[in-house]
Amino acid sequence: MISTSSALSVLKEKKVFFFDLDGTMYLGDKLFEGVLDVINILKEKPDKKFFFFSNNSSKSTQDYLKKLHRLNLDVSVDNIILSQHPTIHYLHNEGYKDIFLMGTTSLKKEFEAEGFHLTEEDPEILVLAFDQELTYERLVKAAYHLQDGIPYIATHLDNRCPTERGYIPDAGGFAALLEKTTGRMPRVFGKPNKEMLLFKLEELNISPQNAVMFGDRLYTDIKMGLTAGITTCCVLSGETSLDMIQKSENKPDFIIKGVWILKDILK
Ligand SMILES: [Mg+2]
Repeated sequence: MISTSSALSVLKEKKVFFFDLDGTMYLGDKLFEGVLDVINILKEKPDKKFFFFSNNSSKSTQDYLKKLHRLNLDVSVDNIILSQHPTIHYLHNEGYKDIFLMGTTSLKKEFEAEGFHLTEEDPEILVLAFDQELTYERLVKAAYHLQDGIPYIATHLDNRCPTERGYIPDAGGFAALLEKTTGRMPRVFGKPNKEMLLFKLEELNISPQNAVMFGDRLYTDIKMGLTAGITTCCVLSGETSLDMIQKSENKPDFIIKGVWILKDILK
């Protein structure tokens, strides 16, 4: 059942607002109506912080920022958390240098700027991202390396990505294809891994009880919020229907039609 505005009034007390992007703030290149008002209200409140999460690793952080600016979302790079961030953090920590990145040209630029050497011939590790430039040739090379036993990680494993026209295959789909061939699945860093939001709360020294996660996906957004111990709010503007929530084990604290309803709650 959709949450009532009196039930939602507890959201007023939250200090950190985490928002999923695709399906929550926009679909494709169309921002949902009222989203700008919500962000402007949050910006005016000095005790509130907000962050956008996306598992979508098809773009570098800089290109993602450009996309948000094109949509008139006047935010900074500090407001963005993408699935490549915890992935890059791990690669640095483990000392990896030579990387087979299944990713776009935009993402490759970010990895190179981070000091990694990208190679499909002699890599130390295979990193699967939302590779929108994937070719059969690259899949074949990846399959050979996986059968050789190379370490294997993924930025995220969403099965599909919503667009205005319909769903398109995402990294989880590519991983399934490679699993059929090699029997291997990657270690995953993006949503629903709770570290993706807990590292930010630690940085801010704010406890999980003071944070809320808004997202359209039960198996990534809501699951991550639940395991991290923050309040969860499922929006019906993307992938999930009321029926799916009823059948899911990942039950959100609140259900709303879309983030635009926050306009009235936060005023
Ligand atoms: Mg989404």
